[in-house]
Amino acid sequence: MGILEIQRLTKRFNGLPAVDDVSFAIRPGEILGYVGPNGAGKSTTVKMIIGLLEPSEGRIVYDGRSVLDDLPGFQRRLGYVPEEPNLYPFLSGREYLQLAGRLRGISRAALDRKIEGFLTLFSLWDDRDCPVSSYSKGMRQKILISAALLDNPDVLILDEPLSGLDASTMIAVRELLQGLAAQGRTILYSSHVLDVMEKVCARVLILRKGRVLAYDSIEHLRASLDQPSLEGVFTRVTQEEGKQDLAGRILEAMRR
Ligand code: ADP
Repeated sequence: MGILEIQRLTKRFNGLPAVDDVSFAIRPGEILGYVGPNGAGKSTTVKMIIGLLEPSEGRIVYDGRSVLDDLPGFQRRLGYVPEEPNLYPFLSGREYLQLAGRLRGISRAALDRKIEGFLTLFSLWDDRDCPVSSYSKGMRQKILISAALLDNPDVLILDEPLSGLDASTMIAVRELLQGLAAQGRTILYSSHVLDVMEKVCARVLILRKGRVLAYDSIEHLRASLDQPSLEGVFTRVTQEEGKQDLAGRILEAMRR
């Protein structure tokens, strides 16, 4: 297991930077929180790390080597929980996991054992043969998390992993992430659910308009900005001067 280093990463779409000169590093055992308002560039960063998008500039280095030197090799060590559950709707939850596991080359016997384990853990066993299209968002999310963990990844990239989950599953996933970090895995946790991030991450990177606004320990950010919570830190750091809050502006527009 090694350090994941993001070095001066930039992505431009039609000349406009969506991710602009972003650098950070995640050590084994660390969960880095990656946070920013909608459109900040979080998903674009994640897509470059997993090899779905090519950077315009910059490098992604894992264990001392550019991941482009051996992208399939890096991808084998990577687990990814995508933001949008684009699951094949005609497959059942179990079939989806079987497909994901076989694509990874996991042996049949080990795969069946793992799948049963995950489906039971996530209370999906009774629904294992129902089509994914009949699942709730939270159920689909559980399948995606299971798929990401099937092959025992060293690096875990999570893009809004908690969307649609109920409170008790959220707590379980939180504890799961802490357990995976304790085993020395390298984890990037991208989300706008700040209270969970505050509990699982020691450090956060705050992104806005593609640029790094802050990259520090939550404790230090809270102390230096004199804020009691990460939420307060986030609001302070991302606030645009002279701009009213969105709720206020919507209410005002409704009165006109
Ligand atoms: P976030 O995940 O933080 O909400 P994104 O990474 O999805 O933000 O988007 C960052 C910016 O890049 C946005 O302005 C978005 O419109 C733009 N963007 C993302 N993907 C594309 C694309 N494929 N083509 C053009 N613009 C894109």
